[in-house]
Amino acid sequence: MPRVISDACISCGSCAAQCPVQAISQGDSHYEIDPNTCIDCGACEAQCPVGAISEA
Ligand code: SF4
Ligand code: SF4
Repeated sequence: MPRVISDACISCGSCAAQCPVQAISQGDSHYEIDPNTCIDCGACEAQCPVGAISEA
């Protein structure tokens, strides 16, 4: 399963900078992960300061 970003996201951008496949982009209200691109490596989850990223 790909990772997902919750409403807790404060749009800091740290996760997007860590993603090896550029699956993360800024959405309308917070950052979003493209489930078709995410390879579930976990790098973004470790980077998030507010714990907004988890497995779907
Ligand atoms: S789990 Fe890995 S591939 Fe998926 S969005 Fe996070 S950093 Fe990118
Ligand atoms: S690292 Fe966390 S708070 Fe920062 S943009 Fe990504 S999901 Fe949002």
